[in-house]
Amino acid sequence: MTAPPSANAPAPRAGRGERIAIRGDLLDFVADPEWGATDSPAVRFRPDTWVLAEDGRIVGVQADAPDPTWQRDDHAGRLVLPGFVDTHVHSAQLDVIASYGTELLDWLTTHTFPAEARHRDGAHAEVAAAHFLDALLAHGTTSAVVFPTVHAASVDALFAAAETRGMRLVAGKVLMDRNAPAELVDDVATGEREMEALVARWHGRHRLAYAVTVRFAPTSSREQLALAGRLCRADPTLYMQTHLAENRAEVRWVHELFPEARSYLDVYANAGLLHAKSVFAHGIWLDDADRAAIAAAGAQIAHSPSSNLFLGSGLFGWRAARDAGIHVSLASDVGGGTSLSMLRNMADAYKIQALAGERLTAWTALHAATRGAAVALGLAGEIGSLEPGTLADVCVWDPAAGTVATRRAAAARSLHERVFAWMTLADERNLVAAYVAGKARYRRRGERVILSEAKDPGVAPPRDPSLRSG
Ligand SMILES: [Zn+2]
Repeated sequence: MTAPPSANAPAPRAGRGERIAIRGDLLDFVADPEWGATDSPAVRFRPDTWVLAEDGRIVGVQADAPDPTWQRDDHAGRLVLPGFVDTHVHSAQLDVIASYGTELLDWLTTHTFPAEARHRDGAHAEVAAAHFLDALLAHGTTSAVVFPTVHAASVDALFAAAETRGMRLVAGKVLMDRNAPAELVDDVATGEREMEALVARWHGRHRLAYAVTVRFAPTSSREQLALAGRLCRADPTLYMQTHLAENRAEVRWVHELFPEARSYLDVYANAGLLHAKSVFAHGIWLDDADRAAIAAAGAQIAHSPSSNLFLGSGLFGWRAARDAGIHVSLASDVGGGTSLSMLRNMADAYKIQALAGERLTAWTALHAATRGAAVALGLAGEIGSLEPGTLADVCVWDPAAGTVATRRAAAARSLHERVFAWMTLADERNLVAAYVAGKARYRRRGERVILSEAKDPGVAPPRDPSLRSG
């Protein structure tokens, strides 16, 4: 006999569709954890619990196994988290990840621009987009805010591949009309025409949203920045993404190019690109006035730890951003970043804060990559938690892999200690399965987890007395 279903179990209803139940130790957040608190009421940990999804949406969470009409994926003993949200990553840069020897501006011209130029070929862009999204899923990232390239074909390829996989994706054509190789620049009129067509084709379709995408201030003329701002004003549902104050040489260059602006951020603000849907990658070299302006706009900073370390860009002041009231999300920034794994990036984020004399808890890091990103993007009703009503973007993780991590996990005396060790030692090899809207889109090779296949909904379910309640 088992206990009666819990109060938030889904009510039976007619005409049900695909139903899947996933068992494990559920970990998500109900609020933003307090900085530095290893014991926080914002953390929701539910050991040995089933999360139930129907037609792609989470419909309930319960302690008991659901009846056999549900496909039951039993991951008892494993961690079950919302899929990670990577708020800044470049789909055309997988080929230049881990490239030696440069800081930001040289890195762009030496490694990045040649790789991006290859995406003008639509066939190349299609293959690359599929590979990129499958790689995200294989790292436990189910949603992302992505830079493709200047080529409309690369944007089409990326959105089409995301739609095929059912993923939440925010992306847009990269705007560049100066200070870049000829094959990567366009002009204001072409940019406007192509953006309008892409917005019409993809924005709001399925789980896709368009982001007005300015590479960074140095590669856009004032006219192109003004165009980007006009588009944002004309449609406030559009996102905006760009890079901001990543590297000191870059900041100096922006001051030379835009002497009229008080700060780098002001270049964007003056163009109408600072608003609640703005995603600013990096934001390392800011002052208090910049931070106050970002917070007042409700914009977010996509902190990119492995990229900041790898390119030697600087140490992000997470505490200062947070104290100013800024939403901070977490990003891989591949190919400047060295891993698509959000866990590897969290481990790097901890080290950056350690160098700054701060302590980053596992809760703040994990929250930034799940619920925090969702809130900042205005998508908390869809992604970032295991709350009923959200889409079932769910990942299953081994709590430890290998002898060192296993021994460390066994020695942990508190939940934070255990999860922090996991965050620090784990990577994509710990990922067992990634579900997008209730469908398994990634399963580790050799995994056999299905307890029972879903039965045809038209047929009365067989009765298993051990699972009946009452
Ligand atoms: Zn970037």
